[in-house]
Amino acid sequence: MYDYLIVGSGLFGATFAHEATRRGKRCLVIDKRPHLGGNIYQERVEGINVHKYGPHIFHTNNKEVWDYVNRFVPFNRYTNSPVACYHGKLFNLPFNMNTFCQMWGVTAPEEAMAIIEEQKAEARTEMTKAGVSVPRNLREQALLLVGKDIFETLIKEYTEKQWGRPCHELPAFIIKRLPVRMVFDNNYFNDTYQGIPIGGYNKLTEGLLEGIECRTGTDFSCTDYRNWRNKARNLVYTGAIDEYFGYRLGRLDWRTISFRTHVCDTPNLQGNAVVNYTSHDVPYTRTIEHKHFEMFGEEVYRNPKTVVSEEYSSECRPGQEPFYPINDERNNALAKAYSSLAEREENVLFGGRLAEYKYYDMAPIIEKVLRLFE
Ligand code: UDP
Repeated sequence: MYDYLIVGSGLFGATFAHEATRRGKRCLVIDKRPHLGGNIYQERVEGINVHKYGPHIFHTNNKEVWDYVNRFVPFNRYTNSPVACYHGKLFNLPFNMNTFCQMWGVTAPEEAMAIIEEQKAEARTEMTKAGVSVPRNLREQALLLVGKDIFETLIKEYTEKQWGRPCHELPAFIIKRLPVRMVFDNNYFNDTYQGIPIGGYNKLTEGLLEGIECRTGTDFSCTDYRNWRNKARNLVYTGAIDEYFGYRLGRLDWRTISFRTHVCDTPNLQGNAVVNYTSHDVPYTRTIEHKHFEMFGEEVYRNPKTVVSEEYSSECRPGQEPFYPINDERNNALAKAYSSLAEREENVLFGGRLAEYKYYDMAPIIEKVLRLFE
């Protein structure tokens, strides 16, 4: 008899398994994919670690979490600084003095601030006319954050491609993730700690799951595991919550992403790990040149090849992999209804992006699991 059957070997499942095992509990981890690690899994192609399920950059302000992951594998000094491409013109992200200089030719923070304030004031007037004081959606939030020039060039079409909905139908919080800076600083995150595991994310998964019984290619939906109470005292479920309940209240909407990956006979194709394509004319949202997450300076040229993935975003149809929850009103209400059902399940813990229907980054997941064991 296991103490825990853990469904899903992503960061939630793997960290939970590690902490429970450390406390003398017997765990079995199953995953329906042919590998462990969930979306942080990487595949090695031409000597380069490819982020198979999209770019993952670890970042946190929490020293305890940072020290925790570094115990399994040391992290490098990668700093995320994506570049945006709008109809062939490049802009630095996040929105900072470099971006404002590229957008308006301004060189001083004061000049940039004056333009942004003027455009923000226009947005406020438009909202006041509509009798609105708090931004109701992503469009209003973005206009209040940076004004219309940046919204139209770097946000509107990218967001619509990524989410498949107009900006006024999306929740405001999505855009609050992005910083606005009046200094020349292209670091995408405000967190103190940031990096990529040296040697890749699989090392983190291997470290977390070392010595723990794991079965890949094993689906929870088959009867053997559905009747888990014969095998384990508790269940930790990290799959999609609507799937767990057989979609009995209806299906939650998700966005899925797919990748077209190419090996190129050049050491350095785009000069950056991430380029966002912020206009509609390009069908993918971004391109990822994987080597730049782990190779710096001359190292880039030591490997004569490079691997680049185009990332496409679309509505998740039955049978496809859910990636991003769509936290609009209908889906939030449905997720809440499912979570009430979840509360009534005995000896079952639901956790992670899919089970909680929440847009989680990696570090908060680890933080959450560590708290469960405090
Ligand atoms: N976003 C944008 N333009 C960009 C990058 C991001 O408008 O060039 C918006 C978009 O709505 C996106 C959100 O900011 O969904 C969050 O972006 P982030 O890069 O943090 O998302 P992730 O890497 O998790 O997909």
